[in-house]
Amino acid sequence: MATIFTKIIQGEIPAHKVAENDNFLAFLDINPNAKGHTLCIPKVATDKLFDLDEAAYQDLMAFSRTVAIGLKEAVPCKRVGMAVIGLEVPHVHVHLIPLNDMSEMTFNHKVNMTQEELAFTARHIASYL
Ligand code: 5GP
Repeated sequence: MATIFTKIIQGEIPAHKVAENDNFLAFLDINPNAKGHTLCIPKVATDKLFDLDEAAYQDLMAFSRTVAIGLKEAVPCKRVGMAVIGLEVPHVHVHLIPLNDMSEMTFNHKVNMTQEELAFTARHIASYL
């Protein structure tokens, strides 16, 4: 099923990309819980995480782990939180959120970032990968 994330993969709408390989893409969330909030997605669209086959699931987790390790280095935080929700966009995505406070995992806590700040942050994280 094509979603807004498919349009990002296909380059039809812009995103601040952090990492990419043949099968996965990481980019900044447009409405971040915290600075550096990153989404990791498989390029093949599947709605629900646990509908991925075993190999695709493991590969997504490995890709997300690599991005999270770089994110932790790039963005000062106590730790990187991970969440999978998908109620808004039905295309599997792993949220990676640099955390200093539990409120940043609530999805009610949002930070305002300009396009320039998002672009800088994406490039900064990418430099740690
Ligand atoms: P969920 O589906 O896990 O509930 O949330 C979807 C997430 O995708 C939200 O955090 C939302 O801000 C983000 N999002 C929705 N549309 C776009 C978009 O067009 N670009 C980017 N970069 N993020 C988006």
